Amino acid sequence: MRINEKTVAHLRELGAEVRQGVSMAGQTSLGIGGTTDEILLVRCETIPDVMRILAGEHIPHKFLGGGTNVLIADGELPWVMLRLPTAHPGMRVEGNAAYVDASADLGGMVTFCAKHDLGGMEGLIGVPGSVGGALRMNAGAYGTQIGPHVKEVELYRAATGRIETLRGDDIRFDYRHTSFAPDDVMLRVKLELPSKPYKEILAGIKVCNQKRRSSQPLNQKSAGCIFKNPPGGSAGRMIDELGLKGHRVGDAMVSDRHANFFVNAGHAGCGDMLKLMDDVRGRVRAATGVELENEVIVWRN
Ligand SMILES: Cc1cc2nc3c(=O)[nH]c(=O)nc-3n(C[C@H](O)[C@H](O)[C@H](O)COP(=O)(O)OP(=O)(O)OC[C@H]3O[C@@H](n4cnc5c(N)ncnc54)[C@H](O)[C@@H]3O)c2cc1C
Repeated sequence: MRINEKTVAHLRELGAEVRQGVSMAGQTSLGIGGTTDEILLVRCETIPDVMRILAGEHIPHKFLGGGTNVLIADGELPWVMLRLPTAHPGMRVEGNAAYVDASADLGGMVTFCAKHDLGGMEGLIGVPGSVGGALRMNAGAYGTQIGPHVKEVELYRAATGRIETLRGDDIRFDYRHTSFAPDDVMLRVKLELPSKPYKEILAGIKVCNQKRRSSQPLNQKSAGCIFKNPPGGSAGRMIDELGLKGHRVGDAMVSDRHANFFVNAGHAGCGDMLKLMDDVRGRVRAATGVELENEVIVWRN
């Protein structure tokens, strides 16, 4: 979708950066996605004004963090992409509290807190993407999830058109699901973390990094786990037991390292990935009766 010149000028007056005709294949870890205009917010405080302009001009939009958990349609996209400023995101520590901008890199936040002897998030070290994306998804790994550490979230609420602060206790964090409204935009978070010596945290980080490197196709384009684990089960094990590692539709392929990672092994399009997901889901359903649910967020035309 192209934003007209008058609106571009208006957005630039607010300090927002507008990039025209950006390929989302270059913005996502799957390397898949069509083209659209991108609005970089630069200053979070301007978000209510930016949203008012988009609403007034009837411009549909979606919000992109690090792009590591999304599968985006091909071709010219019928919405614009909004992003937070990623240069020099704020991070500071006061006692056991860490205050972090949502645009910060999640792994960077884990190591920043570790250097201030704040731990508890070692498991999240290899989860790529932004802090905002991790909040939205309640990212988790190796027994750790971000949700339980959240004290407060500052966010833009489309429902009120204002920036508000939510208490952690008022947010539900479930397995890869949260109670944020679909159009909430996370701006900053306050986390409360247990004190732990840096050396101890570093040892935990090392273990998690080794586990990840030994089991995941980290040098290939993926969005991490494509399906959620069903209650009490493992989607990866179910797919593996059907002998589907290496199974492919075009260049979309079930990783031969981790059966719940679907990789773009060349020039896969969104359609190839969706066909592969439907095919694998159907085979798992036929063999076990279990309906696998997407973990990856799919944005289709
Ligand atoms: C190699 C690899 C390994 C992975 N391993 C794990 C793992 O172990 N555990 C795990 O949980 N995930 C894992 N993932 C998936 C992914 O990294 C996480 O879900 C991550 O938290 C997504 O963050 P992101 O910034 O990239 O979000 P995006 O992919 O950009 O967006 C995901 C969703 O969050 C929303 N969003 C992003 N930022 C904001 C914001 N500021 N405000 C509101 N909404 C926002 C988007 O609109 C979208 O709905 C892995 C991915 C890869 C590629």
